[in-house]
Amino acid sequence: MADPGFNAFAMAQAQFDKVADLLELDESTRELLRNPLREYHFSIPITMDDGSHKVFRGFRSQHNDARGPGKGGIRFHPQETADTVRALSMWMTWKCAVVDIPLGGAKGGVICNPHNLSMREQEAICRGWVRQIAKNIGPIQDVPAPDVMTNPQHMLWMLDEYEAIHGAKYPGFITGKPVGMGGSLGRTEATGYGVIFTLREALKVKGIDPKDTTASVQGFGNVARHAIQLYTKLGGKVICVSSWDEADQASYSFRRISGINLDELMTITDKFGGIDKEKAKGLGYEVLSGGEWIEQEVDILIPAALENQVREDNVVKISPKVKFLVEGANGPTTPAADKVLIEKNIFVVPDFLANAGGVTCSYFEQVQGNMNYFWDKEEVLTKLDSKMTSAFHAVYDTSVKKKLYMRDAAYVISIMRVAQACHDRGWC
Ligand code: GLU
Repeated sequence: MADPGFNAFAMAQAQFDKVADLLELDESTRELLRNPLREYHFSIPITMDDGSHKVFRGFRSQHNDARGPGKGGIRFHPQETADTVRALSMWMTWKCAVVDIPLGGAKGGVICNPHNLSMREQEAICRGWVRQIAKNIGPIQDVPAPDVMTNPQHMLWMLDEYEAIHGAKYPGFITGKPVGMGGSLGRTEATGYGVIFTLREALKVKGIDPKDTTASVQGFGNVARHAIQLYTKLGGKVICVSSWDEADQASYSFRRISGINLDELMTITDKFGGIDKEKAKGLGYEVLSGGEWIEQEVDILIPAALENQVREDNVVKISPKVKFLVEGANGPTTPAADKVLIEKNIFVVPDFLANAGGVTCSYFEQVQGNMNYFWDKEEVLTKLDSKMTSAFHAVYDTSVKKKLYMRDAAYVISIMRVAQACHDRGWC
């Protein structure tokens, strides 16, 4: 997680300010876009299984809704902060704009560690979170979704609470619902697959065959696993992956030069996503420190865990062989590290483009829910591929035409779309 000196919101604002200068954005638009429109902080009192009472802190930040209702996940994490949620809500605004879906940006969180909570306690937190904010979120205001350590079951409890409060069925209140309960097929795969759709296009414009490439992945959660699955299917070889070990409160990297095997690793993974070190050694993996995923001699690096992972201190350890950095996580790279990536001439597919597959599929879930007719998985994934592919090429073309770093090109497109919506509404 973030080191104490790191502030995700300051970083999101620094990224924004750089491109706002470039676009010569006027003062009032800047002021509007560099802060959330609204935010809510609240307490969630819970009765624990042992009968004791505990209070958890909850957040929702609604960064901008000029292009449509706010959209974004809810994270459960022990190190969650108001500033991280603010930053993530801002990145959601840019994410929805870059794939051109009619949604704004929002994000929520609860300071908690689901690993230490029973299912009943987690349900109570989900219901408590909704009770505190039920009047300020909803299908035409702000639509939550899963994120770090939340899943379709959490979404269903939240939906159930929202519907109980409002006395009717509101399937559009939340996305990432279980399939069969208003969820979309393909939602689980969507973020990880989206990362690889953009990587595939990046390789294409550089004239490289995925079969001739190797990758190292940080993280072993939902995004990382599906990214590994699709990349491997395209012929690429992942040689290193890192995962969080809950018992040790540390992460480890697992390397096998002949290539990792996702299915095999899944059989030795605990319920928190941690890979068993001893069993991995038995299968021929070297167990390295958590930070070593970034030092591997590969063509592609895929950070798919949390923010603040590619920093000034470790960016210099990236091998000269690395040509691509594809950001599955939100905010993995600091502005200081960006400078080094530019010097090293590494092609970056920035987070809010690379990982937009999740929210794009959430949008498809809304579309299907609104017509109450659900597509098969193939149809969902084909539509997802075409959205991600055209968003990638729009950003790439802008970066070539305007000679911009890929992150800045993505920001140019998103900021212009959102600023236009704000101007047209007469907000600035
Ligand atoms: N939590 C995901 C993200 O960061 C998805 C958000 C959504 O589906 O609304 O993009």
